[in-house]
Amino acid sequence: VELPIHEAVLGRAAEFGDTPALIDGTDGTTLTYEQLDRFHRRVAAGLAEAGLRKGDVLALHSPNTIAFPTVFYAATRAGAAVTTVHPLATAEEFAKQLKDSAARWIVTVSPLLETARRAAELAGGVEEIFVCDSASGHRSVLDMLASTAPEPEVEIDPVEDVAALPYSSGTTGVPKGVMLTHRQIATNLAQLEPLVGAEPGERILAVLPFFHIYGLTALMNAPLRHGATVVVLPRFDLETFLAAIQNHRITGLYVAPPIVLALAKHPAVAQYDLSSLKYLLSAAAPLDARLAAACSQRLGLPPVGQAYGMTELSPGTHVVPLDAMHDAPAGTVGKLIAGTEMRVVSLDDPDKDLDVGEPGEILIRGPQVMKGYLGRPDATAAMIDADGWLHTGDVGHVDADGWLFVVDRVKELIKYKGFQVAPAELEALLLTHPGIADAAVVGAYNDEGNEIPHAFVVRQPTAADLTEQEIMLYVGERVAPYKRVRRITFIEGVPRAASGKILRRELRNLA
Ligand code: ATP
Ligand code: MG
Repeated sequence: VELPIHEAVLGRAAEFGDTPALIDGTDGTTLTYEQLDRFHRRVAAGLAEAGLRKGDVLALHSPNTIAFPTVFYAATRAGAAVTTVHPLATAEEFAKQLKDSAARWIVTVSPLLETARRAAELAGGVEEIFVCDSASGHRSVLDMLASTAPEPEVEIDPVEDVAALPYSSGTTGVPKGVMLTHRQIATNLAQLEPLVGAEPGERILAVLPFFHIYGLTALMNAPLRHGATVVVLPRFDLETFLAAIQNHRITGLYVAPPIVLALAKHPAVAQYDLSSLKYLLSAAAPLDARLAAACSQRLGLPPVGQAYGMTELSPGTHVVPLDAMHDAPAGTVGKLIAGTEMRVVSLDDPDKDLDVGEPGEILIRGPQVMKGYLGRPDATAAMIDADGWLHTGDVGHVDADGWLFVVDRVKELIKYKGFQVAPAELEALLLTHPGIADAAVVGAYNDEGNEIPHAFVVRQPTAADLTEQEIMLYVGERVAPYKRVRRITFIEGVPRAASGKILRRELRNLA
């Protein structure tokens, strides 16, 4: 799709007119499609008037708000690339991203203004900082709505120009700036649309962060392209989330595994009327089939569907289509989407393609493969080979019907006495224990210097006396001997990234 992203998404906004595009889930403030269309054009004019030029990078530093999409599409319309920033980033982390991305403009929210100022200072200054609201009295993009400046006439080349510069989650190392062009993002939207496209009249709950590529696509670009209504929550809090589903009659949920876990296990779920829900889709981290089944049964929903992707893939390559949720095998992340190629290759020899059912590294080639990592040609070359195949670093296998199953990341596999153990499999098993609220497994080293599976376990409040021995026995009865958990530490909570991924490197440090 060779369109600038704001046109690909908002092309039909005028037609949707008075339909609510975004609703603030905390106070009910509503933005219609007509307003979204008009406002983003005014803000684009205001940004251009302030001096923003094509090719500039604008840092958008905000939790989910109804203003977020307006600023995002305004910036791209004015010719900028938007680098989205974690709203909980420290000033130092934010400064690093400002420097790395060479961002010259910041849009933030009043409660984060001090962090943004400090970050700008540490990074050696920016042109200007704006807020999205009027709370601080600081210069606001709201003022730009009154701008009489002409809409900027910017020639955008969808093939070459970068629209978004999200950073990868930093699960395996330092987050990397990922250059995604207008065409890459717009094409991936179009590839996923026939399979999971929201319809007018649908009400989507945006609780995963817009700043991460998953929220940016599934909760912002995709529903807004279709005239659906997006109810926005700034953070995940189970009771607020459940109340929002009930009060706004939410029809579709895009979530990550920790939310599936909460929906399957938390007692509060029973107190809300969730009957408006039609489907639930999970992505961003491994989801166990038993947990998914427990969740969908409890909510009376079709089986939980999954999608697979990564920041570097704009982000999707696989999804369980909404109309195939009943037929898809349990645990699959979906089928390969149109216009995309996949190979599964041997972990020992990347030139060797594997057969159906054999697990190996997933390689992807297609129009959604990133332009590259910003300023890291070596990292880019390590990721995308000379033939254009992106090496995902994920292990998976495909069945005879083409359904993909993701096992875990290559780097996370634990090598116990020469056998490979996938932490995700053990985590899923641990979660089936009624006394376990949450769990994470990493590779640790025993006194002989051998790698062993080490589990970090959060006990249910009702199971405070659950012991290490009981857990080891429970696992031992259910897996092959080489997969047994060899060490257990009880913790209060599992550290996770905003996208729901377990931060195993933090646990490895603890181990
Ligand atoms: P970094 O690359 O900085 O270490 P990251 O890989 O976690 O961080 P993202 O781009 O947010 O950053 O995540 C992509 C990864 O998420 C994939 O490589 C894969 O490991 C995981 N993932 C995504 N969807 C699924 C899924 N449905 N099942 C299992 N894993 C998934
Ligand atoms: Mg990654």
